[in-house]
Amino acid sequence: MSKAFKHILLAVDLTEESTQVSEKAAALANAFGATMSCTHVVEPLSLAYGGDVPMDLTTVQDQLHDTAKIQLTRLAATLDVPSERCHLVFGRPETEIHLLAEQIGADLIVVGSHGRHGLALLLGSTSTGVLHGSPCDVLAVRVGDAS
Ligand code: AMP
Repeated sequence: MSKAFKHILLAVDLTEESTQVSEKAAALANAFGATMSCTHVVEPLSLAYGGDVPMDLTTVQDQLHDTAKIQLTRLAATLDVPSERCHLVFGRPETEIHLLAEQIGADLIVVGSHGRHGLALLLGSTSTGVLHGSPCDVLAVRVGDAS
């Protein structure tokens, strides 16, 4: 029987919920004997603040990048993901995650989603964005105040 998934791409926002999402991705990779890669996308500050900020954000942006690199490297080490399969990229999360999935030939993207109650049982905005137009399957791991 062919493997259901051969290459799993774990996308993390590096919040504390990343541990929960990572554990699920690692368990899946283990169960399917799949390769695992991981990524975090550093968002341009100018984008987050509407694109027109009247000050130089280069230093802050560099600091965010450096901090994210340390955190992603640490997470990858706990998952036994080697550095060549650990991707820190810059841009819009949905777009960059799709591009990376294509580039590395991932057949499953794992993201987190926020569990909410009743009618507001919605995915987070990034996970929704990743789901739409994805080049492969997407698994949203329910995290947060799910009950
Ligand atoms: P959100 O929709 O922002 O609540 O995020 C839901 C999930 O999308 C997170 O748990 C991550 O799996 C993924 N995600 C959000 N932001 C990023 C990011 N900057 N880089 C990589 N993955 C992200």
